[in-house]
Amino acid sequence: MSLKLRALCASLAVFACTAHAADTNPAVSSLRLYVFDCGTIDVSDISLFSPGVDKGQKKTLTDSCYLVAHPKGTLVWDAGLPDEVAKEKAGVKRGQSFHLRMNKTLAQQFKETGFSPESVTYLGLSHMHFDHIGNVGLFPKATLLMQAEEYEAAFGPDSAKYGNDPKNYPTLSANPVTKLAGDHDVFGDGSVVIKRAIGHTPGHQTLFVKLPKTGNVLLSGDLVHFSKNWENRRVPSFNVDKELSLKAMEEQAQFMKANKATLWIQHDLEQNAKIRHAPKYYE
Ligand SMILES: [Zn+2]
Repeated sequence: MSLKLRALCASLAVFACTAHAADTNPAVSSLRLYVFDCGTIDVSDISLFSPGVDKGQKKTLTDSCYLVAHPKGTLVWDAGLPDEVAKEKAGVKRGQSFHLRMNKTLAQQFKETGFSPESVTYLGLSHMHFDHIGNVGLFPKATLLMQAEEYEAAFGPDSAKYGNDPKNYPTLSANPVTKLAGDHDVFGDGSVVIKRAIGHTPGHQTLFVKLPKTGNVLLSGDLVHFSKNWENRRVPSFNVDKELSLKAMEEQAQFMKANKATLWIQHDLEQNAKIRHAPKYYE
């Protein structure tokens, strides 16, 4: 508790402060979606994501992660860049292509929602790339919901082949896990559904959320990284399977059409600038 809060507590009735300090999750009567800003990625040559197009041009991507609160439990979708990035004001270089920055940690943003990370029921990761798993350690008790192939790529003997290293996510193997082999209805009522959409990685997945007031949305994972690539169906050079990537894009497009869903592209800076962020939420 901060000194300021302590002083405030001293001047208030004790029970009010006790309630404030406790890790009590807000009561949720209908579905909510919170959006977090989980970092910024400056890309030195965006043609890495769209081979042969815009060669040598820079582009900035955002990195989004989410909390879905359902009356039956909570699901975190993707865990962003590591919160440690926020300590470096000038950001952190990663390899030849990326420069990473972060304004506010996920831990802090999560706190502002009133939900406790320790109490999160499910952890859904679109895939195992570094910019989606940075803070998995915040959710040690959550049941991991992952396609079996992605779990194998993370922890199996060929993890290095996929650019994965279990040393980079030391807590994750201790999380309870449900390995998936297709779509998965998280709370059993069709309102939150993990969609199998492989190709970017061996077990990539997206998340369909049926919001009663906002409408239906599909959180992209890395099905696509920005609008122009979606419109032109472009596949990044580093996807594990180009044909499967194109197939997944087409299937998800059909699914969205049939379900009147809007695609929220997790890395699209311009689109996310228009989306309300936590502690506000969508219903
Ligand atoms: Zn990504």
